[in-house]
Amino acid sequence: MEKDCLFCNIVKGKTDTRFLLETDEAVVFKDINPHAPVHLLIVPKRHIRSINDLTDEDRPVVAELLMLGKKMARQQGVAEDGYKLLFNVEYGGGQRIFHLHLHLLAGKVW
Ligand code: 5GP
Ligand code: ZN
Repeated sequence: MEKDCLFCNIVKGKTDTRFLLETDEAVVFKDINPHAPVHLLIVPKRHIRSINDLTDEDRPVVAELLMLGKKMARQQGVAEDGYKLLFNVEYGGGQRIFHLHLHLLAGKVW
C-alpha cells in the first residue's frame, strides 16, 4: 500500500469506485475516461509500480491479471468479436498511474 497511490486507495475501498469483480489478488473496475465502449482496468491489490518492477515472485499475479482479462471479456460479451489487453509501461509507454494495471478495451474496430 502506497499512501499517495490512487489505485491503492481504490483497491482499499477508499473511493466510491464500484468493482465489477474482486478476487484475492485483484479488482476490476471501469476506466473513468473510457477509450472504447468497453474499457476496464484490472488491478492487482498489491502495489507494483509497473511491468519493469515485476519479479519472479509476481508470476502468479501476472497470470491472474491475464486470466481476469479473458474472463471479463467473456462477461462483457466481447470475447468472440475481439478485444485488446494492454499494459502501458512507464511514462514513454503511456503509463500515467504508477500502480500496475491491465487495460481491457473492446467494442469498436481498430
Ligand atoms: P495508464 O495511462 O496509466 O495506463 O492508465 C491509467 C488509466 O486510469 C487511464 O485510462 C485513466 O482514465 C484511468 N483513471 C485515472 N484516474 C481514475 C480514477 O480515479 N478512477 C478510474 N476508474 N479510472 C481512472
Ligand atoms: Zn498503488
